[in-house]
Amino acid sequence: MQDLIIRNVNLFDGSGSESINGTDVAVKDGKITQVGRALGLDAAEVIDGTGKSLMPGIIDTHTHYDAQITWDPTVTPSSAHGVTTVLIGNCGFTIAPSKPADRELLMKNLTQVEGMSLDVLREGINWDFESFEEYLAMIERQGVAVNVGAFIGHSALRNYVLGDDASKRVATPAEVEAMAHLIRNGMKAGAIGFATSYSPQHNGWGGIPMPSRIADEFEFTELVKAMGEAGKGVFMITKGGIANVAFLEKVAAEAGCPMMIAAILHNSTLPDLALSDLNEIKAARARGIELYGQVACTPITYDFTLAGAYPFEGIQAWNPAMKLQGEELKMLLASNEFRNAVKNEIENPPAGIRRLFNGDWHKIEVLMTTQEQHRKYDQRNVGELAAAEGKHPLDFLLDLGLAENLATEFTAMLLNSDEDEIQKLLVHDAASVALSDAGAHLTFICDAGFGLHLMGHWTRDKGIMTLPQAVHELTAKPARIFRIPKRGLIAEGYFADLLLFDPATVGRSARYKVHDLPGGNSRLHTDPLGVFGVWVNGKKISDGKGQANGDHKAGMVIRDFEHWS
Ligand SMILES: [Zn+2]
Repeated sequence: MQDLIIRNVNLFDGSGSESINGTDVAVKDGKITQVGRALGLDAAEVIDGTGKSLMPGIIDTHTHYDAQITWDPTVTPSSAHGVTTVLIGNCGFTIAPSKPADRELLMKNLTQVEGMSLDVLREGINWDFESFEEYLAMIERQGVAVNVGAFIGHSALRNYVLGDDASKRVATPAEVEAMAHLIRNGMKAGAIGFATSYSPQHNGWGGIPMPSRIADEFEFTELVKAMGEAGKGVFMITKGGIANVAFLEKVAAEAGCPMMIAAILHNSTLPDLALSDLNEIKAARARGIELYGQVACTPITYDFTLAGAYPFEGIQAWNPAMKLQGEELKMLLASNEFRNAVKNEIENPPAGIRRLFNGDWHKIEVLMTTQEQHRKYDQRNVGELAAAEGKHPLDFLLDLGLAENLATEFTAMLLNSDEDEIQKLLVHDAASVALSDAGAHLTFICDAGFGLHLMGHWTRDKGIMTLPQAVHELTAKPARIFRIPKRGLIAEGYFADLLLFDPATVGRSARYKVHDLPGGNSRLHTDPLGVFGVWVNGKKISDGKGQANGDHKAGMVIRDFEHWS
């Protein structure tokens, strides 16, 4: 007697080979027991899959659910979008290990760098842990709807070992050894690897750099090597600063480990950068070094107000604005000295620094004004509006925001908005499609449905790859890169992580606002389209109708990752 049989379905098994219609898939005790035509088996539950397609659940390798997972075991909205395994701790922004005294700063840093509201974090996070091991154990105790693989995070380690100095200075050799020790323990406890960020866009509370950004080469190399001592683990980095592809190749060769390099996004003001990064990564692979470039299949738009203008935070002259609020911030934004410094830096970028915003004012739009006399600006771009009024675009933007008490909503479409260019990245040999950033930037991004978007928009509508290829990209390929055992394929003996869908309608809805965060705070949300069911370890977690609405404890914390070879 089987637990579940899905009969007569069109099967995309994850390997990349053509689908096979008329297939039955049988499940017992969380695993796939048989795959074939007209299996003469009985089951407690039988689902008629006629006219539908079945694939392995999506593995989302770039999420930031570290905090949310402590109050929301359903891991919405990813679980409804066919995601059955999430990797957390990306960019090194973990909440463990953390001493009680460090928690306030840790939450404040997350507020800044990942766009999470401080009220939500204060009210929501269950701090029933201190070490990384205890954090994993807590998730297991609470239960979770999807499978979870967790990185050890560099910034949290620095907070833990360097305390108040974490964002201020390089570590001493003894401190590096203390962090290496925590990494060795974390790997023993079942971490998937070690993650960090050197991105100049990644700032903490009041504009301080996120701690990992100021680590020197010695610290960096020692910590990656500590992760690799056991012959397993993937190193994940959002690059920037000293961490360019050539440097990363050198460290990967020394440590022997695979590396996932984020965030490879097309930036129209630096149009060749993303492709040249991928080409460098490909060249390293040809030399036998296992590097991957993480790319996104979604345009990245940032909605913001002048009270927290993320797109400008990579500009050093903007830094004073990140330390101020209210009247003090308004005085700064009004001052000519501040404005001139920002204008000057936009026009004369410091050598070697690659920023999110590089003066492309046509990509910044007024989304919504708050006062009647300004409505004429809504949905128009700042470059054009400024030209019409004979102003510098920065002055136009700041004057408008100040006139509306910093409440004007702007939107910036700076990254990954040119589809012809994104396409080149998505099909590149060195690329891995991920980067949903699910769980973060909740007020201006919701890309938890990136997998359905790859299958619907890019595959069905634009034809840049075949559906078997897209399914492989989202399932068996990431399982192989991250050495996740027995997932990513529909085959006998594999875990029953399944997604039942319709290729003709699969996709994601437009974004809309919901007020479901702790304290009733809002976030952006999307619904899955063309999804009929999502199973994790054989248990149904969602029926595809919006929010996840099935078994909230179906997932497991994955702790046994394969060795590299
Ligand atoms: Zn990230």
